[in-house]
Amino acid sequence: MAKYVIACIENDVQILDELYNKISRIVDSDYIIESYVNAEQALIGCYNYIISGNEILITILGNETSSMPSEDFLIELHKNSPNTKNIIFNDVVDVKCLEKIINNASIYQMIPRRFDRVDFELIILEAIKLNAQERRLKDYQKVLESAVEKRTLELNDINVKLEILATTDSLSGVRNRRSFYESSAPMIKYNRRENKKLAVLMIDIDKFKLINDIYGHAVGDDVIRLMAKKTESTLRTSDIFGRLGGEEFAAVLPNTSERGALKAAENIRFEIENLEHLTPKKERIKFTVSVGVALLQADDPDLETILHRADLALYEAKRSGRNKVVLSQSDTNKED
Ligand code: GH3
Ligand code: MG
Ligand code: MG
Repeated sequence: MAKYVIACIENDVQILDELYNKISRIVDSDYIIESYVNAEQALIGCYNYIISGNEILITILGNETSSMPSEDFLIELHKNSPNTKNIIFNDVVDVKCLEKIINNASIYQMIPRRFDRVDFELIILEAIKLNAQERRLKDYQKVLESAVEKRTLELNDINVKLEILATTDSLSGVRNRRSFYESSAPMIKYNRRENKKLAVLMIDIDKFKLINDIYGHAVGDDVIRLMAKKTESTLRTSDIFGRLGGEEFAAVLPNTSERGALKAAENIRFEIENLEHLTPKKERIKFTVSVGVALLQADDPDLETILHRADLALYEAKRSGRNKVVLSQSDTNKED
């Protein structure tokens, strides 16, 4: 365990003994009382204690005879042990030295050389108490900081999870309606401003009610999941794809012309038509989708407008037989 060092520096051995006796009466074995006759020795001694993990709690600086001035000792020690409480006999330093010490190190107390005239033990005990308080505060700060850091990480994690939860459709794993709208609206705005081509697809499973009725709701859910996964995989990562509700999905395809949009829609229709879902009872289910396609027009005020045209096209696909891709009537032949 680390020890607390109280270093006494004084060339008068009698005073040094007196210091030792007084201090040893008030501290226990956690403390080491060191006596040095000069500051150079004291600095080397203190450094050795610091290197081996101990703490210089207090220095008591009296007269000493080394080539190292008292103020230099304090300034050097301060660099590696800034919390040490330095007690100095008031005849040791002049004003110039004091100025240097105050500006570059620290002084805890100045006491008369006849230290039997002051309550010396009380001064030492106060210094020990103060140091312990500072240490506890530092330990507490460390605990607090690591707790705050841990909590911040946890909160980040929770926020990421909440964000995913809030934007993901729990059944299919693709964007939910809100997230689809939130991501698509600015893209529509941007593409219209930049005069870029953009297409919207409305995709709906054909006769889905029948799947539910024949195989049950759970199988219906599996079919929705499968359809979502397949459709997402045929789209580009830059496309925005989401479940609007039930077995109805929508996709926004940026940088996509009429030809590109019809090709993407046909791709989805074809891939789904060729899928086969195996139920837990080993029943093989085939299903199809209808797709309505609309193209962004210069005068489209918002997402709703273009979605509505895609919806009308979807309705037309259903009406004319299902398992079809239909381009919005009002968007036909508008392209060059
Ligand atoms: P159409 O070809 O005209 O689209 O016919 P449809 O049967 O697919 O359309 P309809 O809108 O009549 O039926 C959709 C069905 O989807 C009705 C509803 O009970 C079911 N449904 C909606 N949400 C879910 C869901 O989350 N899971 C399951 N299993 N079924 C759902
Ligand atoms: Mg349907
Ligand atoms: Mg529907």
